[in-house]
Amino acid sequence: MNWPGITPLSSVCLRFDDYHQSIDHETWVETLTRHDERGLRGLIAVPPKYHGERLSADVVPFLHELRENGWEIAQHGYTHEDIGQGRGGRLYHDRSEFCGVSPEEQERRVGAGRDILESHGFEPTTFVPPWHEYDAGTLSALRANEFNCLNEGRWPIPRTRSGITLVPTHVPAITPYILGIGVVTLVRHPHLDDDPMKAANAVAGYEDNLRTPGEIARSWNQIGMDP
Ligand SMILES: [Zn+2]
Repeated sequence: MNWPGITPLSSVCLRFDDYHQSIDHETWVETLTRHDERGLRGLIAVPPKYHGERLSADVVPFLHELRENGWEIAQHGYTHEDIGQGRGGRLYHDRSEFCGVSPEEQERRVGAGRDILESHGFEPTTFVPPWHEYDAGTLSALRANEFNCLNEGRWPIPRTRSGITLVPTHVPAITPYILGIGVVTLVRHPHLDDDPMKAANAVAGYEDNLRTPGEIARSWNQIGMDP
């Protein structure tokens, strides 16, 4: 065990947050290329209009290349700005783009972000809330905009709320490592990480357990766990 939650019977998602032309793009391409060449794949969380700057067509072909190799492209908020109020406390962030924002504004943001990604040829099914924060209004906004998966949750296994499957990131207390089964998402930020291959090394030997959150949501719903 070199990362809590990775066991022979658990599923592992690799996730990379904040792909955007204005965020250390060279480092991103280098890091993701290294993963891709090792035969790894994961989810890339893309803010469609990071701090008001629309995702540039120049950086989109790389995402399409990775998608052809089994990577998943997800929508990561809209502008990734702190306009809401996160749950805060020990487990959660104070910052949020969605939590605490009116349902109408959340729906507008999810839809406007989706429009940008669609204009670049993506039809995302997974949403990644900035700073891990969301509320019931976010789930409604996702449902109204053809998403079925939200990659966030502090549980060992997926669950479905209001028609959206929550694929866990990690659990503070009970981990899939303890249970021996379940899902864990390893979240990385290539522009911030000292060791770009830390997650890749953690999943060495468990490559067959790699899934993307969208795949997990699909199989979760196929086995009828969706109430
Ligand atoms: Zn982010």
